[in-house]
Amino acid sequence: MGKVDGFLKYDRELPKSRDPKERLGDFKEIYEEFPEERTREQAARCMDCGIPFCHNGCPLGNIIPEFNDAVYQEKWDEAISILLSTNNFPEFTGRICPAPCEASCVLGINKPPVAIEHIEKTIAEKAFELGHIKAHIPKHRTEKKVAVIGSGPAGLACAQQLNKAGHWVTVLERDDRIGGLLRYGIPDFKLEKWVVERRVELMVSEGIRFKVNANVGVNINPKELMEDFDAIVICAGATAPRDLPIPGRKASGIHFAMDFLTQQNKLVSGDKLDVDQLISAKDKHVVVIGGGDTGSDCIGTSHRQGATSVTQLELLPKPLNQRTHQDPWPLWPMTLRTSSSHEEGGDREWSILTKEFCNNGQGEVKKIKLAHIEWYTDGGGRRAFREVPGSVHEIDCDLALLAIGFQSPEKGLLDQFGLAPDGRGNVYTNEYQTNIDKIFAAGDARRGQSLVVWAISEGREAAVAVDKFLMGESHLERKEESSVALGSQL
Ligand SMILES: Cc1cc2nc3c(=O)[nH]c(=O)nc-3n(C[C@H](O)[C@H](O)[C@H](O)COP(=O)(O)OP(=O)(O)OC[C@H]3O[C@@H](n4cnc5c(N)ncnc54)[C@H](O)[C@@H]3O)c2cc1C
Ligand code: SF4
Repeated sequence: MGKVDGFLKYDRELPKSRDPKERLGDFKEIYEEFPEERTREQAARCMDCGIPFCHNGCPLGNIIPEFNDAVYQEKWDEAISILLSTNNFPEFTGRICPAPCEASCVLGINKPPVAIEHIEKTIAEKAFELGHIKAHIPKHRTEKKVAVIGSGPAGLACAQQLNKAGHWVTVLERDDRIGGLLRYGIPDFKLEKWVVERRVELMVSEGIRFKVNANVGVNINPKELMEDFDAIVICAGATAPRDLPIPGRKASGIHFAMDFLTQQNKLVSGDKLDVDQLISAKDKHVVVIGGGDTGSDCIGTSHRQGATSVTQLELLPKPLNQRTHQDPWPLWPMTLRTSSSHEEGGDREWSILTKEFCNNGQGEVKKIKLAHIEWYTDGGGRRAFREVPGSVHEIDCDLALLAIGFQSPEKGLLDQFGLAPDGRGNVYTNEYQTNIDKIFAAGDARRGQSLVVWAISEGREAAVAVDKFLMGESHLERKEESSVALGSQL
């Protein structure tokens, strides 16, 4: 522990975000530079707790007090080697993780928690700057071949771990660029794409092969993969979107959030898109249905495109600002979250039921019919809602974006390999092994829609299972069991 009284001396401080008026004019990341010295002060706030709950809160089991101490002592090489021992891609999680570690930080009991996520990003960027993050080419090759299907954070982490163990890894991705939702989903204002490309380039020099436009089950035959590879890992995400089958759904101007967000990612990358196909929020009344992360990304994107108004609707009641007895420290708090996109404008409404899309007689959506609802507990102890009488009303809507989550991985891929689903339609596994010999699964495809930090964690754990299957044992790092306890509901 570098500074015994750091938590008394320094307040929590984060980089400022650029003025919304300025940042709405571009898709660049929103944070300003932050002096290194002040990051060291933030690291000095860590109390090096006897039981570091932060460590248990992190799905990766990041060894947080140790890297905080290294940062305070300006030992950047030591800090990155501690961080990389549990997390393949701190440059991603340091930018976009909701930071369950901070929610369980002991300092957070009566003061703002240690700024762990910011410290993590700083360690990663400093390491790239100083050349401490290098390609690690394995000294020995096992000559075993593994195919990873899907190049999101789960596939990338799994591929890097398996390559480290000496196997030949090929990542197959159906999109035209690598990165999964990091590439086509999460907007640039949260994660600029050079960050993903920098990592992929490094992985190529480590010996990992990437094939884009490789859609397994469409232009890549699953049977041939089974013959050509010693193991296959399904990291195909949970990409089947949840629909809203209410009256008027067929009107034009109603789109899945992912179609809208992916287009914007492509435009930022300089792709030329067919104007007739473009989903644009410019000069439109935009209604985002769904109150989560995806919805929030649609808000930020709509404002940057020049929407006239943006309204976000959520069925659930408005969360409280404080923890309750149901989510005490160190659990993940079910409190109100206000993202940077919310700070940029728009209206948010809770306890709202979307009843009907109304068109203008030419098939274009123009209004949405809504009703206020109230939540109650029914006789069986389940939560239910009923409409508030007389509350039906309409709001303007020229563009509706459905951001109400994802059902499961796409069934077609599972069927082609003969993979059994679990009770929720995700890929069934036992210790990452599916019902089919030599096929494994990880990430959202196995877990259901979740977080980048969980996808990395799953990719790492699946790699251990594959390595053991191929070699009889594995020397890859494993997560301590205790570290999953607090963040497992995310
Ligand atoms: C809009 C949005 C914003 C989000 N924001 C955050 C955030 O801020 N922080 C956070 O922690 N999490 C966030 N998430 C969640 C996070 O992105 C996911 O949990 C994570 O990316 C899952 O990783 P994955 O590797 O399992 O799957 P994905 O990232 O979904 O990658 C799966 C890949 O598999 C490919 N694929 C699918 N089928 C095939 C096939 N048949 N052949 C070849 N390739 C195939 C897909 O094209 C895709 O590239 C967000 C999600 C969305 C949708
Ligand atoms: S819980 Fe917070 S204060 Fe304690 S070791 Fe972890 S980061 Fe430091």
